[in-house]
Amino acid sequence: MQVTVPDIGDFSDVPVIEILVSVGDEVTKEQPLVTLESDKATMDVPAPAAGKVTEILVNLNDKVSEGTPLLVLETDGAEEPGDGGEEEAPAEKPAAEKPAPEAPAEAPPPPAPAELPDADKQTQVLVIGSGVGGYTAAFRAADLGLKVTMVERHERLGGVCLNVGCIPSKALLHAARIVEETKESAGFGLRFGDPEIDLDALRGWKDEVVGKLTGGLDGLAKQRKVDVVRGTAKFTSDRTVDVDGTSIAFEHCIIAAGSSAIRLPDWPEDERVIDSTGALELADVPESLLVVGGGIIGLEMAGVYLALGSKVTVVELTDQLIPGCDPDLVKPLHAHLAERCEAILLSTKVASAEATEDGIAVAFEGPDAPERQTFAKVLMAVGRRANGHELGLDAAGVEVNERGEIPVDGHRRTNVPHIFAIGDIAGGPMLAHKAAHEGKVAAEVISGRDVVFEPRAIPSVAYTDPEVAWTGLTETEAVDSGADYEKSTFPWAASGRALGLARPEGMTKLLIHPESRHVLGAGVVGVNAGDLIAEATLAVEMGADAEDLGLTIHPHPTLSETLMMAAEKAEGTITDLYAPKRR
Ligand SMILES: Cc1cc2nc3c(=O)[nH]c(=O)nc-3n(C[C@H](O)[C@H](O)[C@H](O)COP(=O)(O)OP(=O)(O)OC[C@H]3O[C@@H](n4cnc5c(N)ncnc54)[C@H](O)[C@@H]3O)c2cc1C
Repeated sequence: MQVTVPDIGDFSDVPVIEILVSVGDEVTKEQPLVTLESDKATMDVPAPAAGKVTEILVNLNDKVSEGTPLLVLETDGAEEPGDGGEEEAPAEKPAAEKPAPEAPAEAPPPPAPAELPDADKQTQVLVIGSGVGGYTAAFRAADLGLKVTMVERHERLGGVCLNVGCIPSKALLHAARIVEETKESAGFGLRFGDPEIDLDALRGWKDEVVGKLTGGLDGLAKQRKVDVVRGTAKFTSDRTVDVDGTSIAFEHCIIAAGSSAIRLPDWPEDERVIDSTGALELADVPESLLVVGGGIIGLEMAGVYLALGSKVTVVELTDQLIPGCDPDLVKPLHAHLAERCEAILLSTKVASAEATEDGIAVAFEGPDAPERQTFAKVLMAVGRRANGHELGLDAAGVEVNERGEIPVDGHRRTNVPHIFAIGDIAGGPMLAHKAAHEGKVAAEVISGRDVVFEPRAIPSVAYTDPEVAWTGLTETEAVDSGADYEKSTFPWAASGRALGLARPEGMTKLLIHPESRHVLGAGVVGVNAGDLIAEATLAVEMGADAEDLGLTIHPHPTLSETLMMAAEKAEGTITDLYAPKRR
């Protein structure tokens, strides 16, 4: 059979940069034969069938396009695609990116049915939801040569993160940071007047940031020929969904339908009681704001409204802000917030809430609960619930737990082998970067790759002021599980950069295995902690030991040095602090 260049998307006249086989070579099905390079990606052309190379029809640097003959393969005929063989392109598109050599196409994809049920549309991969998890899965599957349909119930693609989560909140937090910095700078002799806040312009800028990203997704979907269907998907069987009257039959499905904000029962239905989406709308700057829930989302929003001028009170049921996070990391944040908030009420419950003419009257319960108070607005930030109960999963036989989460295995496969679930709907941590990585795994498994989702560390970040970030093993988990660990902390008061930023309250902490010296986990509190935690995540993921971090030359003066110095302190080589030599 003649092997030709398959469908390589919009590319033509791309050079052959490597010929990976010689005449006489026996090749297996899917073995890369030739590598092509466009200005965007490197692509391998895989063998469409097992056989022996009898002739090579191209030379290095030849320019080729879809259909150009590459080589002749002698096969036993059994595995040739279609009937005619000779002129047919391989059945599958090549990967748009050169596959890693250690990720061969070993695991067979779950078998496709001989024939799909009759439906208005048929697709190889159906992705439900276009959030970070969904669009990543859809795009990766398309890049791997699969026919993909993505369903989204909202007009704008991008899900929570792009539209009403990560991106708009971080844009507003940037604005908040500028306001706060103009106040802090008075401490070193730079005094500014009060900011003039043009709420419409600020909202417009935030919406523009969101619009650029979500609009970009439409373009990316088009480039990859992903069929985007607008509407709400509901399963009608384990091979079909209904999308507002249109039936779609699928070989594989990736459920990426996300999560929704939890609303506490017995609260008044009142426009002054908002969730994070309402808070991000920036309808006004309420004179007073009660934030119910001292977790990451509540505290980020508290930071925005504090900077805009609201009087903010935070009430949290447990005895610390960001429940679950190591207390030493939360302490500097608590101290900084306590200076700016009206009150931070820990171990306190909202006993009742009533809509009145003046606002929302709230009664509290707890050892230090204050008197009933009235707030202009209340932000409910008590967590998110997975959307698993909204999809008619019974019809497909897919298990879902009482929290709305869909249990999955390491491939992100549900109990129904050709249906996968990723992102918030597959359980915590409910983070965009976790959703994206799961999306890639599910798409690659469906394409036949032998991959699995088994991260050693998933970083968490609170983009508060100061930021709090952690990765890998936390000290709380280590103590609870009785794990062996050694702790090394570097106080930012000894960092020249932190002093120069007038933010010396930060701290960097490493957890290290006492014998192997591997970095098990890390925590950072301070400005830009969210950026710093990436290096520690790499260290955990790569199995680096503390010495690796300590011997890596970090640029000076930067906050990144605090990770190096925490490692040096652990290894007894630090000179920027006086710490008795231990090793
Ligand atoms: C205020 C806020 C700030 C956040 N900040 C961060 C942050 O800084 N960093 C971070 O990592 N995470 C952050 N998150 C969490 C992050 O947004 C989520 O983890 C992420 O969006 C999950 O992605 P997903 O693809 O699983 O689901 P989602 O983003 O929820 O997307 C699911 C999509 O599926 C669609 N859908 C649902 N059901 C159907 C159906 N039946 N038919 C068709 N479409 C359907 C929905 O409309 C939605 O577009 C934040 C969340 C909030 C609320």
